[in-house]
Amino acid sequence: MIMRVIKDDITALDVDIIVNAANKSLLGGGGVDGAIHRASGPKLLEECRSLNGCNTGESKMTDAYNLPCKKIIHTVGPIYYYDKENSKELLENCYKSSMSLAEEYRINNNLEKITIAFPCISTGVYAYPKKEACKIAINTIKEINNDNIEVIFVCFDLENYNIYMEELKNE
Ligand code: ADP
Repeated sequence: MIMRVIKDDITALDVDIIVNAANKSLLGGGGVDGAIHRASGPKLLEECRSLNGCNTGESKMTDAYNLPCKKIIHTVGPIYYYDKENSKELLENCYKSSMSLAEEYRINNNLEKITIAFPCISTGVYAYPKKEACKIAINTIKEINNDNIEVIFVCFDLENYNIYMEELKNE
């Protein structure tokens, strides 16, 4: 199981799949969602409109259009102060459902190995405490233990980057 952390803008990555921290409408928003829609272009919104939204913890895949990656997995993270005691399980589900879709993509395309890049889901406006969210991300990916998928955690802010570096040091 390969897990790496980088500090970067996820829209710039030339990987197989990037994950979007979307909202339930899947029609775009602020933060990483806004950046992905801006960089991918209007065809992404058009495809997203056909998906009829997405429940929290679930994921849906689209094309990447003008982005350098091949596919986008849109997942809906929990809103920490709204989903409350369900937040942990819902955040785990985001990573699980994204990894399931990625594995399906890998198999359907006869690829031996793929790379997926995750943002720090729910740690922006959805206000999940960053250290807790990081532990959930790492532990969930570790448990899935899929050697055919390389996972990159993409941190945009220095605080998340430092937290991930510290947590991954112990792996
Ligand atoms: P959420 O609603 O799930 O909290 P946000 O987009 O507000 O989503 O924030 C999620 C994380 O994405 C935050 O840690 C934020 O720093 C990060 N982020 C924002 N823009 C980008 C980007 N272009 N690439 C990668 N991560 C980003």
